[in-house]
Amino acid sequence: MNYLDSFRDKELVQGLARRIAELVRGREKPLVFMEVCGTHTMAIYQYGLRSLLPPEVKLISGPGCPVCVTPNGYLDRAIALSRLPDVIITTFGDMLRVPGSTSSLMVERAKGADIRVVYSPLDAVRIAAANPAKRVVFLGVGFETTAPTVAGSILAAKAQGLSNYFVLASHKTMPQPMAILSADPDLSVDGYICPAHVSAIIGADAYRFLCTEYQVPCVVTGFEPTDVMQGVEMLARQALQGESRVEIQYSRVVSREGNAKAQGVLAEVFTPFDAPWRGIGVLPGSGLRIADAYSEFDAELAIPVQVEELKEHQGCLCGEILKGKVAPGDCPLFGGKCTPESPVGACMVSSEGTCAAAFKYGR
Ligand code: SF4
Ligand code: SF4
Repeated sequence: MNYLDSFRDKELVQGLARRIAELVRGREKPLVFMEVCGTHTMAIYQYGLRSLLPPEVKLISGPGCPVCVTPNGYLDRAIALSRLPDVIITTFGDMLRVPGSTSSLMVERAKGADIRVVYSPLDAVRIAAANPAKRVVFLGVGFETTAPTVAGSILAAKAQGLSNYFVLASHKTMPQPMAILSADPDLSVDGYICPAHVSAIIGADAYRFLCTEYQVPCVVTGFEPTDVMQGVEMLARQALQGESRVEIQYSRVVSREGNAKAQGVLAEVFTPFDAPWRGIGVLPGSGLRIADAYSEFDAELAIPVQVEELKEHQGCLCGEILKGKVAPGDCPLFGGKCTPESPVGACMVSSEGTCAAAFKYGR
């Protein structure tokens, strides 16, 4: 048995399911726990964890996939930039198929735009260094997990004296949407399965205000099936005892304070702003834009371009999915007009999107 197998051990997972069932037996109103991270959503679908839980515990998915929460307007600007003759767009692969208002980067690439998939923003810096006559734009999308490497790429470009490297930044930070969801009376979340990778950067203490201001228990949880089930058990215990504190199930990776070095780079290069979230709206202080001291690297400021008028996709329920209010099967387009091969909404595009997970592994 290797190290990982023990975290996927069927007996252990079933044992945890029995313990959870014993804990909540006879409860009339189900306990509702939200996983806010797309990787958790994938794990929950992949290992069929919902089916192992008793009816007294309900898991709902939240806004935890950075691709899914990126609004159409951002894609429209990226698409407009890709149409400029001297611009090379560099991006992680997931962004290619996300539909903007009327097109996608995939469509633009097929029409001849220079759009390149990279595995790290530093690859984009290398492309800029190798193409001095071009302007190279990296699509900076992601939560606190990816934002430090994007900040690092800006520092690297500055150190190399590059004036043709830019970032179109749409980074989001995690705790704020959780606060908004906690305050939503329609949702009544009894606890959060807090993200693992994000928490490794920001530290578990970043969620403490959710416990004190909204009395919602939080457990920072790993991605393996035993992690998730243990996280659910810890949340159930807190909820049943009327407690609300931040616990760390994923202590093999996450600390209370997080990664001070990554936090320092983020604070140096980015500054918080009121960011728009697809389907959720503008959330105060929930995004990271490039700080004034680095504005020469900000694609939005440095490369003026005409962006098309914003259009939303008719019938798409992504906004409600991201708020945990409906399940993929509730969307009339699910599995018909909207599939991973031909996505209408962002939640069907990203491998971590709730609709994509439901389509791949069943509802
Ligand atoms: S970036 Fe982090 S929070 Fe977002 S889906 Fe991936 S692991 Fe989860
Ligand atoms: S099925 Fe497609 S259109 Fe419907 S909510 Fe999911 S991604 Fe959006």
